[in-house]
Amino acid sequence: MSKPVDFAVIGRGMMGSACARYLAENGASVALIGPDEPADRITHSGPFGSHHDQGRITRRLAHDADWARFSSRSIDRYVDLETRSGLEIFTASGGMMAGPRAGPGSDFTQSFLRVADALDIPHEHHNDTTLPGRFPEFTFPPGTEAAWEASGGTINPRALRDAESLLASKASAEIIPQAVTALRQNRLHLADGTTLAAGHIVMATGAYAHTDDLFPARPEMRVYARTVAFAEVDETEAARLAQMPSLIFIPEGLAYDLYLLPPIRYPDGKLYLKIGGEDESPLLTNRSDITTWFQGDGNAQVGETLLTHLRTLMPDLAIQSTHTGSCAVSFTTTGYPYIDRLSDGLTLLTGGNGAGAKCCDELGRLGAMVARGERIQAEGYETDFRAVLA
Ligand SMILES: Cc1cc2nc3c(=O)[nH]c(=O)nc-3n(C[C@H](O)[C@H](O)[C@H](O)COP(=O)(O)OP(=O)(O)OC[C@H]3O[C@@H](n4cnc5c(N)ncnc54)[C@H](O)[C@@H]3O)c2cc1C
Repeated sequence: MSKPVDFAVIGRGMMGSACARYLAENGASVALIGPDEPADRITHSGPFGSHHDQGRITRRLAHDADWARFSSRSIDRYVDLETRSGLEIFTASGGMMAGPRAGPGSDFTQSFLRVADALDIPHEHHNDTTLPGRFPEFTFPPGTEAAWEASGGTINPRALRDAESLLASKASAEIIPQAVTALRQNRLHLADGTTLAAGHIVMATGAYAHTDDLFPARPEMRVYARTVAFAEVDETEAARLAQMPSLIFIPEGLAYDLYLLPPIRYPDGKLYLKIGGEDESPLLTNRSDITTWFQGDGNAQVGETLLTHLRTLMPDLAIQSTHTGSCAVSFTTTGYPYIDRLSDGLTLLTGGNGAGAKCCDELGRLGAMVARGERIQAEGYETDFRAVLA
């Protein structure tokens, strides 16, 4: 049985691993608890994670100032994380947001342009006159406005999670690759039948925070089943797209945004672009829903729709093969992550809202402050990230 710890962080995902690093590097005794990524999704009974992928978009640009602050502060620390962990996390391919100047979706466009100016984020402002020459790989609809930033691009969520977890263990945190099955006061029950006592518990279990009954109060969140589509390209095509930025955009006729990542090499050695984004998708309301969804390959029809949008945006793209994948996103009632000390013994850190990977380092830093009972009101945010409980 492990020795009692000051802090037990449940959830060795994006936010939990960063939080454990900040707690351990601050000198506390810490246990970071959560299973490894499954070797075989189909037979794995969970829990899964929304970080089991090779690519996530990162950008300072955002439709909301606090989200831009989360990401900017995290992006500023990627080099330090890479240097100290020896892991490659960030690819500075540039990041872009694009949308209609007028009509449905134009509020999205106005919001990211407004935030870019308000927070003085260095960016190029483009429109349908300048876009074709600057980004010939894309065919945007008439009336498009866009912002491009050099400091954006993609991160490898597996590597970022590993870097945070590795640096936490370098600071003496204990890594326990298991699921927590029950909580009784300050004692955690682990899947192997052992228990661990902790002075304070941080709940960072992603989508499962809403579905699991590990603790009395459940955060109010909508957990959506998401499908992504992958388009394989060969080395020549990837070289042609070497300057392609990551992109968040609103296609013609849609009022919600899609996201697109440039070619990234996956563990199978192949290069894939990835596209995603849905307005409505099925809600996952319990653990078995989530498990079943993650065991599958997403919704084939949604995949086809996403690939049609990709072919419209990039008509010259030479696609070798396509496939789909599944994941889950957790939207909070506030639209911000919940970073809240619910009692002397418990802090909630969850609610990525489809955007929490790039900025997990800052969310983890704030989570560690809150778990230590420190105030975050002076950290320069407009919101207090209080949780809404069901
Ligand atoms: C398809 C898709 C695309 C996305 N694209 C982007 C993007 O481009 N940019 C971006 O910034 N974000 C993106 N996101 C969002 C991002 O991945 C999430 O916001 C982020 O992963 C949330 O971090 P988390 O730590 O809250 O949850 P997770 O990363 O899911 O981690 C939670 C961890 O808790 C563990 N856990 C659960 N229950 C237990 C238990 N009982 N005991 C122990 N451990 C447990 C899980 O196994 C998991 O490892 C995307 C998400 C999806 C699904």
